[in-house]
Amino acid sequence: MNVILITIDSMRFGAISELSNSDDVVTPFLDQKVRQGATFMNAFATGSGTSTSFPGILGGVLPFDFGYPGLSNHNTPIAEVLKNDGISTIGISGNIATSRVYSYDRGFTSFHDTVGNSLKDNLYSYILEHNKIFKLAKKTNQIIRSIKPSLESNSVPYIRAEDLNDIAVDMIEDCKDPYFAWLHYMDPHHPYSPPQSIFEEFDTKGYEIDQINELVDNWSSRRPELSSDNKNDSELFTSTEMEAIKETYNAEMAYVDSQIEALYKKITKSKDTEETIFIVCGDHGEEFLEHGHFSHRPKLFNELIHVPLILFSNKDKFNTSISNPVSLSDIPPTVSRLFDSKSNSTWRGMPLTSKDLYTGRIKNQELEERDYIFSELAHEAGLGEEQSPEIAKISVVKYPWKYIYYNKNNAGRLYNIRDDPHETEAVLNEEVTDELHEQAQTRLSTLADGPHHKTENQSTSSTAVQDRLEALGYKE
Ligand SMILES: [Zn+2]
Repeated sequence: MNVILITIDSMRFGAISELSNSDDVVTPFLDQKVRQGATFMNAFATGSGTSTSFPGILGGVLPFDFGYPGLSNHNTPIAEVLKNDGISTIGISGNIATSRVYSYDRGFTSFHDTVGNSLKDNLYSYILEHNKIFKLAKKTNQIIRSIKPSLESNSVPYIRAEDLNDIAVDMIEDCKDPYFAWLHYMDPHHPYSPPQSIFEEFDTKGYEIDQINELVDNWSSRRPELSSDNKNDSELFTSTEMEAIKETYNAEMAYVDSQIEALYKKITKSKDTEETIFIVCGDHGEEFLEHGHFSHRPKLFNELIHVPLILFSNKDKFNTSISNPVSLSDIPPTVSRLFDSKSNSTWRGMPLTSKDLYTGRIKNQELEERDYIFSELAHEAGLGEEQSPEIAKISVVKYPWKYIYYNKNNAGRLYNIRDDPHETEAVLNEEVTDELHEQAQTRLSTLADGPHHKTENQSTSSTAVQDRLEALGYKE
């Protein structure tokens, strides 16, 4: 058996048609897999951005456990566990925040990322600056490979889905079974570059892709002054502009949906293909002014942390929808269970399934009940290089309750996300508030006492890397 983990940047819950109430979303392949697979209706990312969600997705921990951005040396990622058990591990990261720079290559026998952009010289000077990467420089082919796609594509600061697929298929063909492959698609993350033919099928109010990206750039370039939550992005966009941006996001989702289908077909084309379990999730969501902002700022409302999570197989149909709240930090223990590997003591997540998931026997009651689902962050802008407990925000879900705690005010707001999934109105319930507040305090003490805040090798001094970060709106 093989496992392919597909993470899609900025894919909010309603980005898949079957999970949305909107006719504007067109994702036929994922719709089918939502119906046929095991679909988690209440899955939460561990944070609202890549740097706070990947400690969960690949590390099985919460951001405050070992700090962020970057994978901590104290944390054992899923790839390392599997590699030690002789399983081939393949990683392809379209995002600089999950690249070698942030140690997310750890445990992968074969890894590809976008470090370096098309600026070859910068890449090599970067390599020379960084010991860890210097070791990798010996693998010339791999380095060349990481430059090539960006040379061929346009100015978008990440690998597009079709290029990522080509790299993935090559790497999968080159490895021996069983394998674990992780692919991170960036397409729904702004700036946008859907194929023109797909873009034209969406009602983007007469705007061209370039104009949409100009609107986004305009926002992005003003972001530093607006980094505080108190200042509203809505003043930067008219409602028509925001609709056009949303439709472009939908076009990117339609494109990525077609590319996941293409990958699925390539991987499973032969009848004697091994059973392959696909796990698809958004790394975090995306806000379109629901709570006053655009993109994915350090906030913990549902549009930012409630994400699609689907498991499906090329051999079996599960036809299951699971309503128990779960966390993306449950992914590493799930994958290790599927491979019969051991869990790791640093992980906080719990398996999403018994070993029998893929025989179609999953039932709600088989899933171990989680007491609380946490999401957390403690930075104001960018990737979170600076974390300070004073500005920590912590979300605690105990369905149907969700409490968002703001350390700045030493207070939080309670929502009933079953009745009010968009968190429009805080509710009063002293007993629940007290219970969840106490849980938030426990998480806060983890951050305050932690051995972390910064991992050791995350200097981002390289110009190429800085440019990438800026293009993605991470840099101030
Ligand atoms: Zn992300």
